[in-house]
Amino acid sequence: MERFDTDILVAGGGAAGLAATAAFATEGFRVTCVDPVPPAAGIDDPGSDMRSTAFLMPSVRLLERAGLWAKLVPHAAPLRIMRLADAGGPEPVVRETADFVADEAGEPAFGYNVPNWLMRREMVASLRGMPRVTLRMGTRVEHLTPRTCEAVVRLADGTSLRARLVIAADGRDSAVREMCGISARRWGYGQKAVVFTVAHSLPHHDVSTEIHRSGGPFTLVPLPDHDGRPHSAVVWMERGPRAVELGNMPPEAFERELNERACGVLGPLELASPRRVWPIISQVSERLCGPRTALVAEAAHVIPPIGAQGLNMSLRDIATLRDLCVAAREAGGDIGNDDLLRRYHWKRHPDILARIAGVDALNRAAMEDTQRLRDLRLAGLKALHGVRPARRLAMSMGLGAGS
Ligand SMILES: Cc1cc2nc3c(=O)[nH]c(=O)nc-3n(C[C@H](O)[C@H](O)[C@H](O)COP(=O)(O)OP(=O)(O)OC[C@H]3O[C@@H](n4cnc5c(N)ncnc54)[C@H](O)[C@@H]3O)c2cc1C
Repeated sequence: MERFDTDILVAGGGAAGLAATAAFATEGFRVTCVDPVPPAAGIDDPGSDMRSTAFLMPSVRLLERAGLWAKLVPHAAPLRIMRLADAGGPEPVVRETADFVADEAGEPAFGYNVPNWLMRREMVASLRGMPRVTLRMGTRVEHLTPRTCEAVVRLADGTSLRARLVIAADGRDSAVREMCGISARRWGYGQKAVVFTVAHSLPHHDVSTEIHRSGGPFTLVPLPDHDGRPHSAVVWMERGPRAVELGNMPPEAFERELNERACGVLGPLELASPRRVWPIISQVSERLCGPRTALVAEAAHVIPPIGAQGLNMSLRDIATLRDLCVAAREAGGDIGNDDLLRRYHWKRHPDILARIAGVDALNRAAMEDTQRLRDLRLAGLKALHGVRPARRLAMSMGLGAGS
């Protein structure tokens, strides 16, 4: 008789936990995913996540292999061009743009953008039909006892499960990370992001536009048309008090501020969703593994939303762990042993540290208020874009290469 209740217990059913559940189940593992919060049913649900995720091509391939992409693709808009626009002069107008074109990197698109609230709903719908998957929505992991050959996980509903491996995908304040005694270093920027959707008169032509002025980048990311009108997701990063003020402004006053900050790049913008305000931090876990436990996604690393790195790094964690577990099983080994988990740490931690350092530097440059430093930033952008090898390297890093 099978000793384990499940091969893998995934703590957390956010985007990363759900992707991990599908990725391991499609490779033949029995997976149980636990999350206290069921997915939002509609965009106006108080808990719905207004962010969108730009999945870069390696992530799209992982989601395809995991059987999740078919349900996401009807809600996805391709990203063919990443445009950086500098509006750092005295007036809020675009003074320089630099286009990074997917064609030049040998791909039809850099990736595809999907609204988060729809992504979670559609992922859960796909998982409900998958063999070897058990979803436990409405309860949480409360206690973890790692043993030599298994982990015993107690849930808040009083039940316990025995698993070979626990995957901590329970977010930036990960309870499982704490249960393992793993510390994380966190730092802030005094900055928040206002996140929402807009309708606009001009088509976006599959171009994602990041406009730099001060306080942080303002990014318009294409969404599929809705009611016959072009739509984009917006991430507007600002110093904390200003972001809170923007988040609470009456809609008409907010739209005036919004249109000034967007510099007219897509014509007049109209607010098309609730606004949510997110704190901007960086965080990195000191280790990616504990006994019988692997940390993935925001439980392991948090990064400011620049260059669509966050969830894409998370899916790389999942792909790395999946490959190690499949290889261990084929060799007749144990998928939760210390050696495998240490190898997982060493394969992912250096890439995570490098990407956090890179995005941290870009964010600090994007926050610049003084005219002299904003002009210096513009010179840097021109230099990066003007030199073909530098441009191609930036694109391949952005496309998820380099790990
Ligand atoms: C403004 C903004 C824009 C972004 N844009 C992009 C982008 O374009 N591309 C990109 O790649 N990334 C992007 N990111 C990053 C991305 O959104 C995050 O990496 C991602 O949403 C985090 O997913 P997660 O599953 O790790 O964590 P979460 O979504 O926080 O999920 C954690 C889950 O764990 C559950 N949980 C908590 N405690 C327990 C427990 N004890 N037991 C079980 N479950 C528990 C929670 O209920 C939650 O559902 C962006 C981030 C921000 C802030």
